[in-house]
Amino acid sequence: MSTKPNPTPAIAVDGVSKWFGKLKVLDEVSTAVAPGEAVVVIGPSGSGKTTLLRCINLLEEFQEGEIRIDGEPIGYSGSGGQRIRRPEREVARMRAQLGMVFQSFNLFPHMNVLKNVMVAPVRIKGVPRKEAEAIAVDLLERVGLGDKLASMPAKLSGGQQQRVAIARALAMNPELMLFDEPTSALDPELVGEVLGVMRQLVEEGMTMVIVTHEMQFAREVAHRVVFMAEGKIVEQGPPDDLFGNPQSERLQTFLKRFR
Ligand code: ADP
Repeated sequence: MSTKPNPTPAIAVDGVSKWFGKLKVLDEVSTAVAPGEAVVVIGPSGSGKTTLLRCINLLEEFQEGEIRIDGEPIGYSGSGGQRIRRPEREVARMRAQLGMVFQSFNLFPHMNVLKNVMVAPVRIKGVPRKEAEAIAVDLLERVGLGDKLASMPAKLSGGQQQRVAIARALAMNPELMLFDEPTSALDPELVGEVLGVMRQLVEEGMTMVIVTHEMQFAREVAHRVVFMAEGKIVEQGPPDDLFGNPQSERLQTFLKRFR
């Protein structure tokens, strides 16, 4: 028998429910992400995938349950029904542990690529400029953009812009990375270069939660796949199980669309 204690999950989601008005968009969602694990969240549009990510990232409040990052409850202090909003300063500190990449790249249009990646570490964390620049150059080389440091975002392709956005999130040295449909806004021929960078991050052991419709990527790269429908987690497990032997009719129907 293994005597190894379970490590504290990087993210623990415990019975989280959220309503927008009368609409219940998350319905007692529970899951956990281990350090170094890459979890891909799939499901039909409107099933609550983005809302779940936004709750984890403290961009949305939720009404029931608890989310812990590295053991620390987010958003609220206390547990067991106490829902006291954390002070904004603490929320900002917790959010700084998380890197987020969105569908729209949201680069600063008036700053070149290098500045885009340097600005947050310098302004928010007080990293000395020289150091921030060295880190930014290194990250941009890792995402294959070492020759674009001086380019303005508007001069780059969507795939290049998204790779800058990934480098920018990594520059804050986050504990984990959240991706919300990072390739959905891209022309098909540019999807692969972004997925390639994400695959590399998984191989390096970054803890990641990825919402995507790229089923091939999910199948090949995810350690675990979570299938959501109507605000609930319907199935979760290793990709070979979910894709190879889906249990629920909902997942079977959903996967048929991608055949
Ligand atoms: P998914 O990412 O799976 O497509 P979302 O999390 O974006 O799903 O949305 C889940 C549900 O919540 C949908 O019915 C959507 O219309 C609704 N919703 C999302 N954001 C808001 C909002 N700000 N106000 C009201 N309803 C919202």
